[in-house]
Amino acid sequence: DSSPDSGLLANLNPPQHQAVTLPARSALILAGAGSGKTRVLTTRIAWLIATHQVSPHGILAVTFTNKAAKEMVTRLGALIPVNPRGMWIGTFHGLCNRLLRAHYKDAGLPQLFQILDSADQLSAIKRLLKNLNVDDEKFPPRELMHFINGHKEQGIRANRAEAWDDYTRRRVALYAEYEAQCQREGVVDFAELLLRCYELLSHNEPLRAHYQARFRHILVDEFQDTNRLQYAWLKLMAGFEQRATDAPPAAVFAVGDDDQSIYAFRGAEVGNMREFERDFAQETVIRLEQNYRSHGNILDAANALITRNRDRLGKTLWTDAGAGEPIRVYEGMSDLDEARFVVDEIRELVRDGTERSQIALLYRSNAQSRVLEHELFSHGVPYRVYGGLRFFERQEVKHALAYLRLIANPDDDTAFMRVVNFPTRGIGARSLEALQGVAHTTNSSLYNAAASLTGKAGTAVAAFIRLVESLRQETAGLPLPEAVEHVIERSTLRQHYLGEKEGQDRLENLDELINAAANFDREFAGGEITLDGTPVNGDDLGAVLAAFLQHASLEAGDHQAGAEEEAVQLMTVHAAKGLEFDVVFISGLEQGLFPHENAVMEEGGLEEERRLMYVAITRARKRLYLAHAQTRMLHGQTRYCLPSKFLEELPEELLARVNSVASRETAYPGWGVSSQSKWNSALPRSEGRGAGMTGATASATPAFAQEGPGKGLRIGQSVKHAKFGTGVIVAAEGRGSDARVQVNFSGVGVKWLALEYAKLEPV
Ligand code: ATP
Ligand code: MG
Repeated sequence: DSSPDSGLLANLNPPQHQAVTLPARSALILAGAGSGKTRVLTTRIAWLIATHQVSPHGILAVTFTNKAAKEMVTRLGALIPVNPRGMWIGTFHGLCNRLLRAHYKDAGLPQLFQILDSADQLSAIKRLLKNLNVDDEKFPPRELMHFINGHKEQGIRANRAEAWDDYTRRRVALYAEYEAQCQREGVVDFAELLLRCYELLSHNEPLRAHYQARFRHILVDEFQDTNRLQYAWLKLMAGFEQRATDAPPAAVFAVGDDDQSIYAFRGAEVGNMREFERDFAQETVIRLEQNYRSHGNILDAANALITRNRDRLGKTLWTDAGAGEPIRVYEGMSDLDEARFVVDEIRELVRDGTERSQIALLYRSNAQSRVLEHELFSHGVPYRVYGGLRFFERQEVKHALAYLRLIANPDDDTAFMRVVNFPTRGIGARSLEALQGVAHTTNSSLYNAAASLTGKAGTAVAAFIRLVESLRQETAGLPLPEAVEHVIERSTLRQHYLGEKEGQDRLENLDELINAAANFDREFAGGEITLDGTPVNGDDLGAVLAAFLQHASLEAGDHQAGAEEEAVQLMTVHAAKGLEFDVVFISGLEQGLFPHENAVMEEGGLEEERRLMYVAITRARKRLYLAHAQTRMLHGQTRYCLPSKFLEELPEELLARVNSVASRETAYPGWGVSSQSKWNSALPRSEGRGAGMTGATASATPAFAQEGPGKGLRIGQSVKHAKFGTGVIVAAEGRGSDARVQVNFSGVGVKWLALEYAKLEPV
C-alpha cells in the first residue's frame, strides 16, 4: 500500500486503527492507561492532514500540559511534512491566552495584560480585603479565592451569583470588587483566562462565526479532567452551541480514562464523559484494551487497586509484555533513609545503563521533594523538578519577575506590592495603606497614585518609582537575558540575598532566571518569538519581555534545571499524568501523605486518591518501586507514620520486600510485622472491606501497642469522649506521653487528642 497514510497507520492495532481513521464525526475513545490514547490522537491529526481532509489551520488540539503540547508538536513534525508550529495545539489556558492576546480589545483587556498565578491571585485578594477594611478572619482570603474560582469555573460572574444569606451576599460583593480590581490593573487569573475567552466568543458573533467555521477538527486529550467551563468552551468552539456559521459543527475527538480523573478538587467532572454523547452528537465509542506500556506485574497491581473503586465506567487492560519483575517495596526508618535508598538505587540503575531521564521519582505533595532533591544533589545526580509551579514560584524569582513586570506594565499592582519595599527601603505598612487609600479613591493604580503621596513616605515611594523608571530606560536596548541580569543587580536583589543566611540557593535561582531568559531568547529568536501567535520584533525589549513574562506565568516550573541535561525526573503524581518512564519510584506511601489526609475525610476523597495511585503506578514501564518511611519530618517535628492503605490493596504475590525485617525490629520494638497485621488502616470503618480491614483491626500503631492495649483502642475503633461524644479513630502518632490520636467525631468533626488526657472509651 503506497497511499500517503500507510506509514502512519502501520503500527496500530485494529481498534486504534479504527479510531485514527474514523469519519469526521464526534467520537469518544474511552480507554485505560497506556493503551495508546495519546498516540491515537496524535496519529489522527497527522492522518487527517496527510489525507487532505483538513489543513493544519483547521485543527485545534487540547493537551493537559505545556510539555504535552510540545511533545505533540514534535511528534507531528516527525509524522508529516508540515510545520506544526503554527497549529493551535496547547492547554485550555494556553489556547485561551492566545485567543485573548489576538483579540484583546474585543475582550476588554489591555494589550499586555498579565496573568496571575494562584499565589499572585491570593495576594491580590488579600490586598483587596485590606483596602476594603474587611476582616480576613471572617473572610479567609484562600476561601474567598476558591469561592471566586469556583464561580468562574461554572461560568458565573459576580452579578449573576446567587446568595441566600448575608454571608454569601458579602462574598459575592467581594467577588465583584475583585473583578473590578483585576480589570483596573489589567491582570487576569487562570480561571479568568477561560471565562473571558468563553464570553468573548459567546458575545461576539462575527468572531464566533470565524472560529466555528475555522476549526473543523477539535481533539481533546485527558478529557476526563475537563471542568464545566472547559466543556462549555469546547461546545461553543465546536459549534454545538450558539452556532454562528453555516458550516456544520466540528468533529470533536475526545480521549480519556475515568480511572485517571484526578482533578475533582479543581472542578473536573467525569460526568462530562457521560454527557458527551448527547452534547456532541457522538456516534462512536471505541475502547482500547491492550496496554503497551507496562509489564504484567505492574499492570496487575494497577488493575487490582482500581477495582476497589465503585462507580467506574469499567474497562480491563491486558498486556502481552510478560510479567516482568516484581514490584519492589521499601520501608525506610525515616524520610532520610527512604531518600538514601531511592538515590542508591538510582545510582546503581544508572551505573547499569538506565538513562536518568527514564527514571521518575513521584510524590504526592510538592514539599516532599526537598529531601529527595537534597540527597540527589549531594551525590551529584543530575535531576529536574518537573511540573507544578516550582521554579517560577520561588520567592526570589518572583521578586525579580515583579520588577520586570513593572517595567512591562506599571499598573500591575500585584507586582508593585511585591517589591515596593523589597529589598527594604523604609516604606512601612502605614505608608502603603495610605497609598492604597489614594489609589482606591482616585481609582488608579498604585504606581500612578504614588505622585500624590506626601511626607516621608512620599519621598521613599518616589525613589522607588524613579528606580523602576530608570530600570526601564537602562534595559530598553538590551537583549532579554542582559536586561534580566541588569534588573537583578540594580534592584539590589542580588546584594540582598548575598547577605542572607540561606541566600546561596536563591542566588542560584536568580542566575537560573537569567539562564531561562537566555534560553527563551535563543529558542524563540529569529522571528519566532510570538505574542498572541504573531511574531514580534526581537529588538523591541518591551514585546520580548511581555512574551517572556507570559511564558513565565504559563510555563512556570518547566525551565528550571539544565533543560537539555540527562536528568532524573522529580514530580508530583499530578504532574506525571500522561507520561511514562522505564523506572518509577513512588515515595512517601504513608497514611495521611498518600492517601493525603485532607482527602480521607472528604466525600469521594479516598477514591480520588486511589485514582491518583493508579496514575502513579501506570507510569512505569519496566520497574516499579514503592517506598515509605516509619518517621518523617513535618513542620520541624518527627512524626510517626503508618504505611499507606494502598500498599495493603496490592496483591502480595506481586511484591518483593527489599529491606530486612531486622532493621524495622530494631527501630520499633513492638511493631507488628506479621503478614496480615502490618498495615494499619486509617479509615473510618465504613470504608473498610474484607480481609484487609480485619487485618487492620488486629494490629495497632506503635503508640497504641504500648499505651493502649488494655483499652483495645485501634484505628477504625469507635470511641466515646466525655465532651465531644462518639467518633471513630482515624489516625495516631507519637508514643508514650506524646501519643495522640485523631478522632472523627460525628458531632464536632475531626480532632487530635492527647491519649493521656482524652480518656477515650471504646464503644
Ligand atoms: P495515558 O492514559 O497514561 O495517557 P495513553 O493511553 O495515552 O496513556 P500512550 O501514551 O499513547 O497511552 O501510549 C503508551 C505507550 O504505548 C507509548 O509508549 C506508545 O508509543 C505505546 N503504544 C501505543 N500503541 C502502540 C502500538 N500499537 N504498538 C506499539 N506501541 C504502542
Ligand atoms: Mg495519554
